[in-house]
Amino acid sequence: MPELPEVETVRRGIESLVVGRTISSVTVGRERSVRRVGREAVIHGLTGMSLTSARRRGKYLICDVSSGDRMMIHLRMSGRVLIHPPNHPRPPHTHVVLTLEADQHGERRDHTHEFRFVDPRTFGEVVVYDPVDEREVLPELARLGIDPLIDHFDDDVLWNLLRTRRHAIKPLLLDQHVVAGIGNIYADEILHRSGIKWDRLASSLSRQRMARLRQSISDVLTEAVAAGGSTLQDTQYVDVDGEAGWFQLDHRVYGRGGLPCLTCGKTSITRVVSNGRSTCFCRICQR
Ligand SMILES: [Zn+2]
Repeated sequence: MPELPEVETVRRGIESLVVGRTISSVTVGRERSVRRVGREAVIHGLTGMSLTSARRRGKYLICDVSSGDRMMIHLRMSGRVLIHPPNHPRPPHTHVVLTLEADQHGERRDHTHEFRFVDPRTFGEVVVYDPVDEREVLPELARLGIDPLIDHFDDDVLWNLLRTRRHAIKPLLLDQHVVAGIGNIYADEILHRSGIKWDRLASSLSRQRMARLRQSISDVLTEAVAAGGSTLQDTQYVDVDGEAGWFQLDHRVYGRGGLPCLTCGKTSITRVVSNGRSTCFCRICQR
């Protein structure tokens, strides 16, 4: 499932290749991808318009439309945004297509392209709406927690968010109402780098250890964005050009159950499954 670094990589692709270009036509195949507002709202809301910005909050992509509307895209489990020439074969499960007119702002924009929303499992969404209705259409946006790469995020912020929480630290990191954008991959990597075991109660962490956690959140996410995100065999995440990220090469625990710990070299990575979610950690490095 794409997390903050993957969504940020897609956002950057949309910003450089899509913002400012006229959307000459829109087709919607699978209604489920536009279930929140319906096919007509997406087609009429985008045809003849252009995107004027591409922003991100947590795992949500939010684009301003020249009409004053907004477009929100959430990739959920398997969503992808691909920007390809029209003669490039459309992959199976392409549910929404925006045809982008050529413009003069760069050599990669001087031909017609298709913006393709591809989503085999169809949990993802494309929503076009009037910002006045945002709280009604997308109530979850207002409830999102701190975005560690956008909002002011220092040691005091994390300390104040977590120090009284008598819950295991990992589910708190995954809770989008607390910190927005972290999923299973980056939670495991962040906790390993922090030296914190996944089930430690947040309220039991010293201020110093919480500061180390804050630093690891910022560092791991920033490094993963620089690497274009993580592409795993099962999730098929790719950027808008269809290229894989490479942060998976730097994973120290995620997906490495049973393999030697790269940090201490003294034991193998433990994998446990709790509430249907796997967690990988080192029993020596993380306490
Ligand atoms: Zn270790």
